[in-house]
Parts: sequence; structure tokens; C-alpha cells
Amino acid sequence: MLSLTLKEVSQAFREGRISPTELCRKCLNRIKKTEHLNAYITVTEELSLQQARQSEARLLQGVPLGPLDGIPFAVKDNFCTKNIRTTCASRMLKDYTPPYNATVVQKLLDQGAVLMGKTNMDEFAMGSGSTDGAFGPVKNPWSYADPCRTAADPDWVVSGGSSGGSAAAVASLTSYLALGSDTGGSTRNPGALCGIVGLKPSYGLLSRHGLIPLVNSMDVPGILTRSVGDAAIVLGVLQGPDVRDSTTVPAPPSLTELPEDFDVRKICVGIPKEYHAHGLSEDTLAQWSRVADMFETAGARVEQVSLPHTQHSIVCYHVLCHSEVASNMARFDGLEYGHRGEVDVSTEAMYASTRHEGFNDVVRGRILSGNYFLLKQNYQHYYVKAQKVRRLIADDFRRVFGGLGVDVLLTPTTLTDAARYSDFTQEDNRTRSAQEDVFTQPANMAGLPAVTVPTALSRRGLPIGLQLIGQALQDMKLLSVAQWVQQRVGFPSTSNPGVAGSQPAA
Ligand code: GLN
Repeated sequence: MLSLTLKEVSQAFREGRISPTELCRKCLNRIKKTEHLNAYITVTEELSLQQARQSEARLLQGVPLGPLDGIPFAVKDNFCTKNIRTTCASRMLKDYTPPYNATVVQKLLDQGAVLMGKTNMDEFAMGSGSTDGAFGPVKNPWSYADPCRTAADPDWVVSGGSSGGSAAAVASLTSYLALGSDTGGSTRNPGALCGIVGLKPSYGLLSRHGLIPLVNSMDVPGILTRSVGDAAIVLGVLQGPDVRDSTTVPAPPSLTELPEDFDVRKICVGIPKEYHAHGLSEDTLAQWSRVADMFETAGARVEQVSLPHTQHSIVCYHVLCHSEVASNMARFDGLEYGHRGEVDVSTEAMYASTRHEGFNDVVRGRILSGNYFLLKQNYQHYYVKAQKVRRLIADDFRRVFGGLGVDVLLTPTTLTDAARYSDFTQEDNRTRSAQEDVFTQPANMAGLPAVTVPTALSRRGLPIGLQLIGQALQDMKLLSVAQWVQQRVGFPSTSNPGVAGSQPAA
């Protein structure tokens, strides 16, 4: 039951094979059994059961609110949730309880979906391993033969980040879908490393209202599910304009449902030559070639293309990210909300102690360098220059999609499979992000939709994902191609090791 698709669960509800309350209990049970993964910061047990009972009543009366009625979901802890604490995995907000729901959370609740809890992450979404948060690292469910059994804790691997808790929650079958956020890859990276689907929609298609910002001009709510079809259903529910976010745009009139059998003979798949990056593992390269060949054999046009400015994406991202961080973090001063330092000899001293105690080194470091980039004498040289290069990066994509007629780009999502925690933490956060985000970040620069699909297991038995990047606002077409890939790659399971082939958890 826990590894079914959203449609299958809805059908099971309708046929009375399981009730929302029973399903909710199963998920709560499994959350307890997988506690060692540290995927959740807050589990909303009582509220989940209450919402499940309400859903059950609606289903019994035959009036479900929508396709997600009764479906358990999890939310990254940087989305505001009314009366439920929202920490951003930071000491700064460890006791913060928002008075409102983020628009995307509200939309899921309006559909009758059942909130299981808030998930762990890198502090303020700054990171790529979910190793840098105030609540400890998230362990990848694939570290274990059975994620519920931990007698011997092996040398575990990271979940990816910064939405690692959301990815681990979906991969370990404690939620059917989860919200992540994606500024440089934070939904796709953990999606790939945890063997699930991670969608970063086009910028502006989903509201950011209530998503605590990292880089306002690149942030998008992300969707983590076990199948592409599920991601399309959730996208359909979440997309569309929001009066509370002036950057949102109407969803284009397009497919509302993915075609069962997409005809790839009509499409052109671009393979960007610059993505043959240093450090790409043999296993990942082999999968990339395999799927490119699959397209070709099926009659798609597969062409090598060039995105020459992509190589500058990471360095530009750091300038832009740190600058926006410096400005966004200014609101955390201990006065209005969040942590307040003890020192009160002066307002300045209070600010300083609040921010020193509240933020980790990563956040403080980014604020410092961001303020440096924004200094009057540096602004043109760093911030404005990075914005100009950002335009060149976006233009590269436009040329490939518009001029050359490419429909989707096929690339790896990450350089390698998940690293062992002990290896991952040998490098600092900035170095890690630079390595982890090489393939994912450019899509954020250009606001394009991108999705990772699990394709195979590496020699170490860990998932490898491939990324598809589409044209702006062509998210449904992108997902149609992604579903075609998912249906053919034969990934061992859309669920998870230890569950595939074994009995669903009680
Ligand atoms: N790894 C990148 C960073 O640390 C991207 C994070 C994200 O997408 N939220 O900033």
C-alpha cells in the first residue's frame, strides 16, 4: 500500500480497501520506525489523524475534495505552516510558529491532503547534503538494506540537499509526496540521491508566498514524488497565479494529464557537451549514454549542443546568492520574531549576539561575503557583472531551445551517487555546493523547469538520477518526456530498498 502511486491510493480509498485514517496510521508508524533517518523535524501526529478522519468522512459521503484527498504529504521546514513551528533548521527560528500557511501548503490542504510533518534540511536551505542544519544530518534511506532496521548503523550516505528530509521521507515511504525548495538544485539533488523524482517547476509557475526566501529571483517550490505521474498531479494542483506573489504567472493552457504513451519520435533531445564535467562518475556517464541511446533507438532526434556560459554558472550563483542572502537575512534581528540574544547593553550588541547565536557558520559566512559584494565600490564589479553573465547563461538556453529546435536537454543530475557522510563532510559547504550543483544550478539562473528521474543503481547499490531540462512554462511537456524515460529505464523500484519485493510495512 505504501508504495502505490497517487492514483492507485485514491482508487484503494474508493474501493474501501483502506481508509485515510488507516493509511495515516501506517505512515505515522513508519515515521517512528525510520526515526534514525532524521527526516522530520516536527511530526504533526494529532493533526495528521484529525485531517485523515475529516478526509475519511468526505470519502464516505462520496464527496472527495480532489485527487489528493486523504494522501499523506510532508513539507520542508522552510515553508510556513499555520500554528506549526517552522524552523528552517536554524536556531534562529527554532521556536517560530507562523500565523499562516504558505500558498502551496494551503493548496494541498484545500485538496484534502494530510500533513504528516515538517522535514529536515540544511539551515535556511544553504547546502547540498542536508548535513548543515541545527537538527543534525539526514541519513539516506538507501544506506540500509531495510530503512526500518538499524541494528548495525553502517557507514551511511548523505541524502543530498538541501531538501534531504523531504526526499528521505518520500523514499522511505512515510509520505507520498513532499514539498522541497529549489534555488540551485535543492530538490533535484536529494531526489537523485534518494532514488525518487524531483521536479523544479518553471520560475513563477508556483507561488513562493510563505516560502522563507533564499534567493528570491531563483527560488521555486519543488515537488518530490516516487513517480513522474504523481509529480504531474501535484503540479496540476499547485500551479497558477497568486495575488500574494507578484512574480507568479498563469499556467499555460496545456496538457492536464500526461499521455500514457508519449511519442518521442517528434522530439529533439539535446546533449550539452559542457556537462561532461570533471568528476563525473563512470556509472553516471554510462546511464547518461544509455538513456540518450534509448531516445535515439525510439526515433527521437538526439543532438549534441553547446551551452558555453554554463561553466560560469556556479561562480555567478555564489555572488548573487550571497548578495540576496545578506539582504534577506537582515530581517532576523531578534526584535520581531525568532531568537533573541541575551546581551542587551545596546541595540547593536543585541543584534550581534542574536545573529551570532542564531545562525550557523555557513549562513554567517554568506552574509559576510554578500555584504562585501554589495559594498558601493564592489557592486558593479561583482553583483552587476554576475547579473550580466546570468543573462548570457539564460541566452544560451534560449538559443538551443528556440534556434536549434531542441525540446528537452538530457544531462546527469549529480556527478556521482551519494557520498558517505564521513567523506562528504571533509569538504566545506561552499566547495560541496560548487560540486553538487554544477548540473542543476544553470536551470535556476534561467528559470527553466527541470526534473530528475531515477534510472539505475550504481555499483555501490545507490541510485543514479538523470536530469531533463525543458523550455520555460513547458513543464507538462517536460514531464511527458520524463515519464517516457521512467517507464523504460527499469529502475529497480519506484519505492525503496528493503520494501521492494518485501511486505509493505505494517
Ligand atoms: N546548494 C546550493 C546552495 O547551497 C543550492 C541550495 C538550494 O537550492 N536551496 O545555495
